[in-house]
Amino acid sequence: MNQFDVAVIGGGMAGLVAAIDLAQAGKSVVLLEKAGQFGGRAVSAKKNGAIFDLGGHALIRGGATEEIFQDLGIKMEGGSPTPGGSILWNKKITSFLKFIFTQNLSWSAKVELIKFFSKFGKIDADSVPAISLRNWIEQELRDPMVRHIIYALFRVASFVQAPDHQLAGPIIHQLARSLKKNNIVFIQDGWQTLVDQLYEKAVYAGVSMMTGKNVTEIEHDEAVRKIKFADGQEMDITHVISTTPPSVTSRILGDTGSKSVLRWKEQARAIKAANLTLSLKKIPVPNNIQVIGVDQPIYFLNQSKFTRLSEDGTSVVQIIKYNGTGRTDPKADERFLEQMMDLIQPGWQKEVVARQYLPKIVVAYDYMHLDREDRFPGPAVPEIAGLYVAGEWATHGEMLSDAATASGRRAARCVLKDMETGRKNEQKRILI
Ligand SMILES: Cc1cc2nc3c(=O)[nH]c(=O)nc-3n(C[C@H](O)[C@H](O)[C@H](O)COP(=O)(O)OP(=O)(O)OC[C@H]3O[C@@H](n4cnc5c(N)ncnc54)[C@H](O)[C@@H]3O)c2cc1C
Repeated sequence: MNQFDVAVIGGGMAGLVAAIDLAQAGKSVVLLEKAGQFGGRAVSAKKNGAIFDLGGHALIRGGATEEIFQDLGIKMEGGSPTPGGSILWNKKITSFLKFIFTQNLSWSAKVELIKFFSKFGKIDADSVPAISLRNWIEQELRDPMVRHIIYALFRVASFVQAPDHQLAGPIIHQLARSLKKNNIVFIQDGWQTLVDQLYEKAVYAGVSMMTGKNVTEIEHDEAVRKIKFADGQEMDITHVISTTPPSVTSRILGDTGSKSVLRWKEQARAIKAANLTLSLKKIPVPNNIQVIGVDQPIYFLNQSKFTRLSEDGTSVVQIIKYNGTGRTDPKADERFLEQMMDLIQPGWQKEVVARQYLPKIVVAYDYMHLDREDRFPGPAVPEIAGLYVAGEWATHGEMLSDAATASGRRAARCVLKDMETGRKNEQKRILI
């Protein structure tokens, strides 16, 4: 196989960003993806004229993804939801404002909620101590109903259903960004448009793009030596960025290969969801556009209300059940989501044109939580020279795709810095 300066394993958002950055800095790079296409969990599929992302995706402006995409010249066209939406409580759907200003909330609860929203955007998330989201909410808010509402908003903003473990600071930052006007963007024609643009940038920058390359081993001693593939091929290499999930990175290193990677794998708490995406001929209750479950861990969205996701006027809607880290039953979750659809959009079954059910989709392989012994994993793997990690689990505070793109860029920069230091040390040796 050809010789490359750097091999990037995994062609999702993290791998694509890392590969582009390295190639633009003049390095010869190969991007190795085991699937038949690039994009990882950011791909979209066409079903009966509708475009389905891999579950409901929204780009939140003001974070790493927007900054990096602007820098790379990636267009992020789409529509933003209007503020408001509805609340699902006690099997009833009520508009957010009506819910707050009727008897659901006591007078003091109304005042507490309004005060909370008026100061929330001004909180400096970086100065929030390392406490759980539950501790933070219970310090800040007294009324149980107000707490319920705020828990639900944090859940929708992060997909995380674990307030006892989730670190408060990063999710405060995420929710504050999400609540800013026009900061949520539903990408027109799906996230595949972002992947396609990244792909083009990578090819243009000179990255060698290889699909169907399942990496089974990174051969190493105290430094990276070789990559081995399932098809029996091998590649000599000195610098590798692995953007595969922590369990895969650990396995291909030979689980005892790096104590740090083993620890990152063991401390990881994946965020999972059950996600039903539907394309509907007609929306039975057009006013139910966004519904946030307060006493149920769900979120419903008629995404087509805000962006184009179909060629023939059908509407693409999402309903998500946020799952914690415990065991879940895919069939029971599907029935539950259908029952929720019966409440939100009665008669929906007759309108279905296409359907995608993802019972246990991993939204993130890890996030910022209290069980992380190393708060910030990577990018460099301390025990193995030339090895780096990225992927949203290697977050340094960012969430979801922001963590994927930021970690990809961080890993690329670290490789470039190490290569530069190595080159200078080599020059010094020659001069001596
Ligand atoms: C349901 C759902 C909803 C989401 N909603 C949002 C949202 O609203 N906003 C947001 O910002 N983000 C959202 N995300 C998260 C976002 O999609 C991810 O953060 C991002 O796509 C992850 O990119 P990645 O490169 O880290 O990982 P991946 O996309 O998983 O890429 C890793 C790649 O590595 C490849 N690979 C694995 N093993 C090997 C191997 N041995 N050899 C070679 N290749 C290998 C995989 O095939 C994959 O392509 C959502 C995700 C899901 C699933």
